[in-house]
Amino acid sequence: MFDFDLFVIGAGSGGVRTARMSARYGARVAIAEDRYMGGTCVNVGCVPKKLYSYASHFRYDCTDSKGFGWQGSVPAFDWNVLRDNKTAEISRLNGIYDTLLDGSGVTLYNGRARLLDKHMVEIGDKKVSSEKILIATGGWPFVPEFPGSELAVTSNEIFDLPSFPERILVVGGGYIALEFAGIFAGLGADTSLSYRGEIPLKHFDKDLREKLYLESERHMTMLMKSNVEEITKKDNELHVKFKEGNSLVVDCVLYATGRKPNTENLGLENTGVSLQPNGAIAINEHFETTEPGIYALGDVVGRIALTPVAIAEGMVLASNLFKNKEKTMDYSNIATAVFSHPNVGTVGLGEEQAKAEYGDIEVFESDFRHLKHTLSGNPERTYMKLIVDKATDRVVGMHMMGADAGEIIQGLAVAMQCGVTKAQLDSTIGIHPTAAEEFVTMRQART
Ligand code: NDP
Repeated sequence: MFDFDLFVIGAGSGGVRTARMSARYGARVAIAEDRYMGGTCVNVGCVPKKLYSYASHFRYDCTDSKGFGWQGSVPAFDWNVLRDNKTAEISRLNGIYDTLLDGSGVTLYNGRARLLDKHMVEIGDKKVSSEKILIATGGWPFVPEFPGSELAVTSNEIFDLPSFPERILVVGGGYIALEFAGIFAGLGADTSLSYRGEIPLKHFDKDLREKLYLESERHMTMLMKSNVEEITKKDNELHVKFKEGNSLVVDCVLYATGRKPNTENLGLENTGVSLQPNGAIAINEHFETTEPGIYALGDVVGRIALTPVAIAEGMVLASNLFKNKEKTMDYSNIATAVFSHPNVGTVGLGEEQAKAEYGDIEVFESDFRHLKHTLSGNPERTYMKLIVDKATDRVVGMHMMGADAGEIIQGLAVAMQCGVTKAQLDSTIGIHPTAAEEFVTMRQART
């Protein structure tokens, strides 16, 4: 009766995984993409960001190596080489996504898909019907409106700047702001970070935020309680005026002030799909929108905007729709990392949240200089923190700032998911000498 069993709009992390899994379970699946295969993560998000983060760390590796006997000057950084190598790698990944979809038997439509009703989709001059539809269109950078806001770039453009900005202002205090401020500072730009609040990363553990703030101050100018009033362009320079009275002249202003669900021009008005007040598509626990048979997941539903979450949601949905195996999405203990300088990794609750939820908690922490930096002379600190529910001895939060925090926290997140207790961490033998062993050797609770 229908051309397809499932039509997916958006070939990002969530859409592609749902399409491939559904096809594997025997469904006839199509997917439409109007921009780039792999969505934000592959093209203007996680993947290129991590490559640029590696690039910026080499500066510190070079200077750190001197104390280990490596003499000579730090090599010069060439933005064009990084940008063009990144672009080539992303093209390779785009091709892999194409191949994966093709190999799974998913039909790909290149173009913007618009819903004509709850079963009909229009892509350019083609019209196809599908029993079920999934909206996985992700998010889009949000820039508040103010005089000169059009002069700012977002994470969509920053990777492909025609030339390296020697002076950059990053606005925001979330993941993207901290990551890019760290990247550009590491690459050698004179970097300023402007945040409207007191300390960035509002939703993270307070101590972790403070430690990261202190480290960030060493690499960039931290403008806190700071609000941009106006940007004007004179010759090739951007003049930024702040509401607080100060001003700055830079080559580039990056706005990283959040992302909005991407729901425009999808034809939602032709269906019963409704939006939440924040613009995200409203769904129930089965990812079904207010229009039966139309589903949504990933950044467009405004839950947790992380690639692995969208992928996990896609696996659950595909299983529920086509494998007749009812699954639910578990949003507990989702580990996350900010690839700032240094990295931050976290799983579970921050101290304030843990106190509110459990009342009686114990906090264990360790703040030290990494063994590597005894010879490098780099003053960078490493910080680790464990939060334990006193009544059950269960660990309810683990936080780290330091090299490879994301890698370390990923392993510990497995333990958290298994309900690890402090006694079990204590009975774990550490690997020496590592930074991670601190997580199993913290004995004295903070008083
Ligand atoms: P975030 O939501 O993390 O942070 C947005 C920041 O912008 C906040 O500090 C917020 O301030 C500030 N802000 C919001 N509106 C305004 C405004 N009108 N004027 C000034 N400042 C404003 O968004 P990001 O854009 O950094 O990232 C979007 C999402 O993408 C993240 O939440 C995350 O889920 C995902 N992501 C994940 C990464 C990872 O896993 N490593 C990397 C990058 C992105 P306030 O704190 O006061 O609200």
